[in-house]
Amino acid sequence: MIGEDTSLTADEREYFERTVDTLESEIFVDTLGQEHFRELDANRESRGNWEKYVERMGERDFAGITVPEAYNGAGGTYVETVLTEQAIGYCGTIVHACQTSLTQHVGRTMYEHGNDHVRESYLAPMLDGELIVSQAYTEPSSGTDLAHLDTTAVREGDEWVVDGQKRFIDFAQYGDFYFLPARTSGSDGHREGVSLLVVDSDADGVEILEDQSDWHGFRGTGAAWMTFDGVRVPEENLVGEEGAAWSYITDELNLEHLTVARYCLGASQNALEIAANYTENRVVNERAISEYQAVNHRVAEMATKLDAAYLLNTRAARLMDERGISAGRMESAMAKWFGNDLAHEIADTCIQLLGGIGTTTAYPIERIQRDVRAGRFLGGASEVMKSVVQHDAYQILADDEFEGEYVGNEVEGSPWRGTDARRSPGPDDDR
Ligand SMILES: Cc1cc2nc3c(=O)[nH]c(=O)nc-3n(C[C@H](O)[C@H](O)[C@H](O)COP(=O)(O)OP(=O)(O)OC[C@H]3O[C@@H](n4cnc5c(N)ncnc54)[C@H](O)[C@@H]3O)c2cc1C
Repeated sequence: MIGEDTSLTADEREYFERTVDTLESEIFVDTLGQEHFRELDANRESRGNWEKYVERMGERDFAGITVPEAYNGAGGTYVETVLTEQAIGYCGTIVHACQTSLTQHVGRTMYEHGNDHVRESYLAPMLDGELIVSQAYTEPSSGTDLAHLDTTAVREGDEWVVDGQKRFIDFAQYGDFYFLPARTSGSDGHREGVSLLVVDSDADGVEILEDQSDWHGFRGTGAAWMTFDGVRVPEENLVGEEGAAWSYITDELNLEHLTVARYCLGASQNALEIAANYTENRVVNERAISEYQAVNHRVAEMATKLDAAYLLNTRAARLMDERGISAGRMESAMAKWFGNDLAHEIADTCIQLLGGIGTTTAYPIERIQRDVRAGRFLGGASEVMKSVVQHDAYQILADDEFEGEYVGNEVEGSPWRGTDARRSPGPDDDR
């Protein structure tokens, strides 16, 4: 936040300050310091530092914040969750924030719907920092339209047999287990019949088909395209009811919309701070470039929009604290598209203000710009978020008393005369 954040309580403001302090002094130090950020971006990292990172985050209660302490969560709030993600995006990198974000939303789903086995064998060790999680949702033929997944799980005795492919999966190569949706019944595109499973990464039949970590940004997670060929999964690794996971997934995505937006905003604030300092010191034609109105108005616009995005995000998180994780779908969708589009706009504008040096690795801005790019579709595309918002906004804004005078319908011969002119489509099933 650039201005005073009156949307937070004094305790929450103090929580955020303390989190930034802990991340800077205890987490992103020694082998997890700035050099490690560069190694991640160059895809030269290995599992060792990821193990160290999740262990440190688990020890300091930053993993699975809303999960009760009995399962090694922090027993905290959704507002604390998004503040933590903002702090990681700001002090660390997007990919650190992504790994911890998985413990927040996947962890919440495992706690909410998992049986004792799932909670004790996977959730609690994950939140303690002993296990690395990977969320394997996207498939070659279904990304945004998740309900069209082709991966199947068929019950054989006391096991599930999983067949299918998943691609663009972060931590595919480092994860200890995959949190994976599969179709157990029903037909293509139907919400019913989707189930969630926990699959061990060393199970027979799990293969990396293609390393995908050399992409635009978001590097260092060991992302991959994977195949699951007759993978046998114990029956008790089913999360919740068989075939009923669609609502678990949409709840989980409701939280993921907030965490993804929030950590990208945290990273963009880092870029904005660098740009503000740089423009105050860089002299062009004997004037600091911050004296040019065309430059300082850009800073004004970014500061204002950044605060607006944080406020939208906190509002949605607070709604979840008050009414549960399913609450505020429109508010989360607003926070997601606005926050993620803005984070990218800020990072890109900051490169513009720095000129040539902004495109080099002298400052982390070019990495931040590449990293936040995927946020505009990751976990929910901006277009889909706007579809959710328009649907609910029309419900709120449309007035049955409005007669439609002067819109032309009353004119004899109008093609719309006598028809229901309200045509806002429903939200898609997409994430
Ligand atoms: C860096 C990165 C990390 C990722 N990490 C993971 C991971 O850990 N686990 C995982 O499961 N997946 C991961 N993904 C995959 C990611 O979730 C998908 O890329 C995303 O869901 C979009 O799916 P898609 O790529 O198949 O695009 P598509 O579904 O083909 O969509 C392409 C574009 O079409 C448009 N579009 C789609 N639907 C609509 C609509 N209804 N209305 C209007 N426009 C629409 C949007 O512009 C969208 O960006 C990752 C991707 C990236 C790039």
